[in-house]
Amino acid sequence: MPSSPSGPDQAPPRLESRAEAKRLDATDPLAGLRERFHLPEPDLIYLDGNSLGRLPLATRGRIAQVVDQEWGAGLVRSWEHWLDEGQRIGDRLAQHVLGARPGEVTVGDNTTVNLYKLAAAALDHRPDRPVVITDRDNFPTDRYVLQGLAEARGGQLELLDSDIDQGLDLEHLRSALARHHGRVALVSLSLVSYRSGALLDLAAVNDLVHQAGALVLWDLSHAAGAVRIDLTGTGTDLAVGCTYKYLCAGPGAPAYLYVRRELQKQLVQPIHGWYGQRDQFAMGERYQPQPDIRRFLTGTPSMVAMAGIEPALDLVATAGIDRLQAKSRALTAALADLVARRLSPLGVRIASPLAAERRGGHLTVEHPDAAALHRALLSEAGVLADLREPSRLRFAPTALYNRFVEVWDTVERFEKLLRG
Ligand SMILES: *Cc1c(COP(=O)(O)O)cnc(C)c1O
Repeated sequence: MPSSPSGPDQAPPRLESRAEAKRLDATDPLAGLRERFHLPEPDLIYLDGNSLGRLPLATRGRIAQVVDQEWGAGLVRSWEHWLDEGQRIGDRLAQHVLGARPGEVTVGDNTTVNLYKLAAAALDHRPDRPVVITDRDNFPTDRYVLQGLAEARGGQLELLDSDIDQGLDLEHLRSALARHHGRVALVSLSLVSYRSGALLDLAAVNDLVHQAGALVLWDLSHAAGAVRIDLTGTGTDLAVGCTYKYLCAGPGAPAYLYVRRELQKQLVQPIHGWYGQRDQFAMGERYQPQPDIRRFLTGTPSMVAMAGIEPALDLVATAGIDRLQAKSRALTAALADLVARRLSPLGVRIASPLAAERRGGHLTVEHPDAAALHRALLSEAGVLADLREPSRLRFAPTALYNRFVEVWDTVERFEKLLRG
């Protein structure tokens, strides 16, 4: 009998039949959350939640309320409470998703801009240290931003080799920190690799980087909402991430940024906008940053887009991040097991770490005809996965709304396509 997805220590479920998958769904404590999402194509198996999460039903009402009442009726008076929305929602993200303390997280801009602001602030804090470290397979926007910042300061971006299936080996980081002894200002990595789903050890990386006297900046975009994160407990300095993947806040919903409380006053970000200004409405002559997390803001955020964050966050909070992680692991582990047994004889190779605790919320597979398979999966099998050119497919069963039976059906239909 398969175990129920209630804890990370339990053996991963090994599905032998569709009926067994349905039994797991029947005992899944999170199963009811699926009905809280808009499902206009009930038969579509949506496994691309690590690109864009599904729409929660409550989000439509919330956005309509912001448009009709807060903007339409409240007009400029609504800024009275809009001004603090980013900090209020940031505190809720800190509590339910990021493992941070009140006053350490705010919401605004996008992930790329937030990464730029925090990386630049870190480099300006350590002007005597010219080296920035990331890994060669980090998400493109991260590499571009860090490259640009290093070049603009006459510094150097060190790109660590990392295995595109297994993720970064911390020995590479250790030896780069030793090689650049005393010259590293910042290490910036993604907690979960967008390509392979490989999950890094947050605490271990923080310790290594801190021993070298550098700061660490995490991109949590592919981790938040799928894996448990403890920014405070692991001594994390800085972090950013988007809200529209596992956090289901909608396309272009503002991103979050985290700055450890003890660091806030020491760091000055490069965009000196009025939202970061102490006494914003005094319209003073010189920029004087706020003493708290608000100094990392820039200008007016989209209040309509921000309204998408909280209804989804309510669902995440209801589920609880521990249960979300446990179910996410159970779903991807069941998928990995079925792929290994039924699809690998047909030429599909798992391109993610095999151990569930070394992965985030998605599983990547490789096949030479990935592009054609991606199209056929959608048009013939009703499965919406994600294509990473040239040869990889990513499957992200999201714990808030996906079911075990969808994992079973995906593999069954995939196998049929491969045999056909
Ligand atoms: C999705 C994602 C982003 C997105 O950045 P935007 O500025 O929102 O376009 C950035 N970094 C990582 C690691 C991501 O997965």
